Amino acid sequence: MDHWMCSKCDYVYKADAPYNVCPSCGAPCDFYNVSCYIPECGGPDHIDERLVAEKVKQSKKGQP
Ligand SMILES: [Zn+2]
Repeated sequence: MDHWMCSKCDYVYKADAPYNVCPSCGAPCDFYNVSCYIPECGGPDHIDERLVAEKVKQSKKGQP
């Protein structure tokens, strides 16, 4: 299982593969894999908080 984050609403869910549409906002958007692969934050079953923070920052960029 990986963690996926919606590029539109920052919703995070667990699934083997990203969905076609976001279960939260219902939009067909891009999903970032924000799973943690380093032992420091708990291993593969955890979300990499740094990745999430980075993606949130990126998705806010360019908005007015
Ligand atoms: Zn969404």
